[in-house]
Amino acid sequence: MSKSTDELFKNVISHAKEYGFVFPSSEIYDGLSAVYDYGQNGAELKNNIKTYWWKAMVQMNENIVGIDSAIFMHPKIWKASGHVDGFSDPMIDNKDSKKRYRADQLLEDKIAKYDSEGKTDKAEQLQHDMDEALKAEDLPRLRDLIIEHEIACPVSGTRNWTEVRQFNLMFSTQMGAVADDADTIYLRPETAQGIFVNYLNVQKSGRMKIPFGIAQIGKAFRNEVIARQFIIRMREFEQMEMQFFVRPGTQKEWFDKWKEARLKWHLALGTNEAKYRYHEHTKLAHYADAAYDIEFEFPFGFKEVEGIHSRTNFDLSQHEKFSGKKMQYFDPEVDPETGKPYGNYVPYVIETSIGLDRMFLLTMINAYEEEDLSTDEKQDSRTVLRLHPCLAPVKAAIFPLTKKDGLPEKAREIMDKLKIDFNIQYEEKDAIGKRYRRQDAIGTPFCITVDHQTLEDNTVTIRHRDSMAQERVAADQLDKIIGDLVSW
Ligand code: ATP
Repeated sequence: MSKSTDELFKNVISHAKEYGFVFPSSEIYDGLSAVYDYGQNGAELKNNIKTYWWKAMVQMNENIVGIDSAIFMHPKIWKASGHVDGFSDPMIDNKDSKKRYRADQLLEDKIAKYDSEGKTDKAEQLQHDMDEALKAEDLPRLRDLIIEHEIACPVSGTRNWTEVRQFNLMFSTQMGAVADDADTIYLRPETAQGIFVNYLNVQKSGRMKIPFGIAQIGKAFRNEVIARQFIIRMREFEQMEMQFFVRPGTQKEWFDKWKEARLKWHLALGTNEAKYRYHEHTKLAHYADAAYDIEFEFPFGFKEVEGIHSRTNFDLSQHEKFSGKKMQYFDPEVDPETGKPYGNYVPYVIETSIGLDRMFLLTMINAYEEEDLSTDEKQDSRTVLRLHPCLAPVKAAIFPLTKKDGLPEKAREIMDKLKIDFNIQYEEKDAIGKRYRRQDAIGTPFCITVDHQTLEDNTVTIRHRDSMAQERVAADQLDKIIGDLVSW
């Protein structure tokens, strides 16, 4: 990471804290690793991102509906899905520092180092050897690679490594009063399984016809071996997932459609297209027949924000096997080739899965700007969050010019009308300029000032966040002016 991007990232993190977006969890107890709380502005921004997703997926598609399934699920579900046996990362400890690392991440960092030193051959060779070892689940080989490439612990600087072990990422707990093995249940590591096990409930109760989708937003939990990069890798996070159920044989067509549609969703927020790229998975999970990530260029490099996966009928077939219940759908449509209905089958699934917290960070980084406003006469600057108005936590702030002459009362009267439709903030402290800067820092698109003239002709000054231009408008036009810009 170059100095300036490193600095930018640090500035975004401290801005997020200073302005009530993200706080470290349990801060007065020195925090809890890789767990974060969203503050007053963060909660609003997060809700707005959820709404943008929900509207695009559920409201705009008549064949997609949304559910909200429980975090706790029957433990057999995680057996069926493969998470109990296979949802793990290769872990290694340094004996001197007692620090724990992901073996593959240590190797990836080394590959990046070789690349940055221009040692492309070495980088490629190591990448190849690591991929082979991971595919074969050859843990001793991973350790050998770490030793061969002289990888030292970033903390102790020594190469005194333990064996590599598989570390399951699921959190477990006990349900009920008696803590024996049978009662062990898991905090869900993904929201998708809640959709799979309910797909027939939704299909029947909603009279859904294939192709159709089920969407869900909710918490997921992973005991990540190491947590890095702020809210990129958390132990408690939120996902927005949609499973789209299709007729076998049509999955490629739907995969391509969703891959494109999801990138469009990102770009519709006005983000520079060059900041995004697709990453195709070449090593597919055994059940998948295609997988792409949508990656965003964070200050520390391109990182996955969303995955689009063609999961075949793996999950539903597994649940059929483990639960003993039929997971088939009856398709009454006539196959033009045979002239007969398609009949019973287990649908194929295309999944779109986006991390809400990563989307949140992407949005903050994208919006954050330290703008130089210096003129020949004086030096000046401001920090502004150029958030899309739909996502802004506060839509407008209303300021009485002074605290007397009936201006606060008039300002509150205007606010009382607007707050029915929009999240509005009232501020009367400090000079107007200072109040503008505070609102710029949280991305408020409009500031409305009530002055003495307002009492005479019911007009106000409205100031636009991005251009900082001010104009005089009738107070009863505010509803429309704000509505036009912030409506979805
Ligand atoms: P990664 O390779 O970065 O660990 P993943 O491939 O395991 O991610 P998926 O299981 O496909 O991720 O989950 C879908 C989305 O959930 C990811 O694209 C990401 O945005 C988000 N996500 C996954 N793990 C975390 C985490 N620990 N913290 C925050 N978001 C996460």
